[in-house]
Amino acid sequence: MPATSTAIDWADFVKKSLAGEALSRVEAQTILDIDDSQVLTALQAAYQVRQVTFGNRVKVCLLQNARSGLCPEDCGYCSQSNISKAPIEKYGMLSEEELLEGARKAKEAGAKRYCMVTSARGPSKHDIDHLCQVTRNIKSKYDLEICVSLGILDQPQAEQLKDSGVGWVNHNLNTSERFYPEICSTHTYQDRINTVQAVQKAGMMTCSGGIIGMGETDQDLLDFAYAARELKLDSIPINFLHPIKGTPLEGSARLKPMKCLKVLCLFRFLNPKSEIRAAGGREVNLRALQPLALYAANSIFVEGYLTTSGQKMEEAHQMIKDMGFEIESTESVV
Ligand code: SF4
Repeated sequence: MPATSTAIDWADFVKKSLAGEALSRVEAQTILDIDDSQVLTALQAAYQVRQVTFGNRVKVCLLQNARSGLCPEDCGYCSQSNISKAPIEKYGMLSEEELLEGARKAKEAGAKRYCMVTSARGPSKHDIDHLCQVTRNIKSKYDLEICVSLGILDQPQAEQLKDSGVGWVNHNLNTSERFYPEICSTHTYQDRINTVQAVQKAGMMTCSGGIIGMGETDQDLLDFAYAARELKLDSIPINFLHPIKGTPLEGSARLKPMKCLKVLCLFRFLNPKSEIRAAGGREVNLRALQPLALYAANSIFVEGYLTTSGQKMEEAHQMIKDMGFEIESTESVV
């Protein structure tokens, strides 16, 4: 039975969340169970939590795929995997000039953070040296936060990245520990946790989220949301599966927009101070309800997601302004 707003004390949820207290598992489940007619009430409550740390600001992030395709791993959702037949562009590591040009464009477009992403199980020594050099160069020219997403990292690699000026590392948990083997067999959930912890130990900020809609249960969603809370992640990108033709998940059902909003509320209540980003697949899954995501999320990606297209920067800016939110300034916090 869907829960109704009369059964939920939203003010109590807000109070608990802001006090740093975890909602109980039963309370968290009720957020996913509410009737669709109660989603606006849930968003209003999530907004109260969002506002305390992030005000009305929206952080806009841009991705640059520094190496595309050619990955030996078998993540079922990914068009760049070893088992994907998706007709994507494949290329090796971009040169320093190409990555610098990407940073220049990101800065010009008003992005605060520039993320360089490589398709790989993890980086080679050469990859790390190259990206550290690029990072030093970008930091000397532009006021941009630098984020990298390079796959599995060990402690010395994390330290080297930190020393070069990398402020953030993305490495997604993706889903729950229980469901992880269903989406990938070439590495484990624990490999991912170890990487996040190496990043934290090196003193960098962690960006680690997941993908909703891969066939996981609500219990998996709760496990994932509580795991994110336990790890005290700085940023949690929530992707909504955009099934890509040629990947094992190509036939997956689209998510309902209301479900996407409930999931964003769940993550906001359990992670009140973390950046929550409405990420990949928001356009195709949230459709006309996209702007409502901003009540729970305080960050978005623009201009696409590595191998799929996304909302254009200008449209995103318009959406943010139309909703009465502000685009976050481009000062670096690293
Ligand atoms: S490790 Fe990354 S790039 Fe490789 S298949 Fe998995 S998600 Fe795709």
